[in-house]
Amino acid sequence: MQEDAYKILEFLMSVERRILRRGRVYYQNNLVEYVRKSGNLYTAEVSGSKLYTVEIAFSEDGGVQSWQCSCPYDWSDICKHTVAVLLAVQAGEYEETTGIPENPYTKEELLEAKRQIDSTLHKLRVAVKTFRSKENPNRYQSQITLAERRIKAFQIANHYIEAELAEVTKESP
Ligand SMILES: [Zn+2]
Repeated sequence: MQEDAYKILEFLMSVERRILRRGRVYYQNNLVEYVRKSGNLYTAEVSGSKLYTVEIAFSEDGGVQSWQCSCPYDWSDICKHTVAVLLAVQAGEYEETTGIPENPYTKEELLEAKRQIDSTLHKLRVAVKTFRSKENPNRYQSQITLAERRIKAFQIANHYIEAELAEVTKESP
C-alpha cells in the first residue's frame, strides 16, 4: 500500500497551524533521520532535544490512519515530529524494507570490508593484550571492556560478511 500525497496534504491542513509550522521547520532542517516503510507502516526517527521514534500507519486508501510518537507532547493530538515525518513521506523520502534485503555490495567491496575489519580486529586484540600485560591491568579495565565490545561487534559484522561472501561466490563463481 502506497501513501497518497494528496491525502497527507489534506490531513496536514487539519493540523493546528502552530504544530504544522514547527513540524515544517524540523523537516526543513533535516531533523528527520530516516523513514522506513514496511507494508503500510512507516517508522522514523526525528532528532530534537532527544531522538524520538514516530510510527505512522496508512489506511488501504493511502490516508493517514494512526500515528504515535515517543515524545511527551500530549496536549494536542499530533506533534511536530509526526508532522515532520509526514512531510518526508509526502516527498517520497523513505526507504522501503521488503524483509529480504538484497545484497547491494559487490564481492570486491565485501572482501575489502573484511580486510579492513580483520585489520581492525587485529589492532584491537593487540591493544587488549597490551593493556592486560600492564603492571596494573585493572586501571585499564574500561579500555579493555570497550575493546572487547568492539571485537565482538566486528566479529558479528565479519560473520555476516562471510555469509554474504559465500552467497555472492555461489552466484557468480
Ligand atoms: Zn513527537
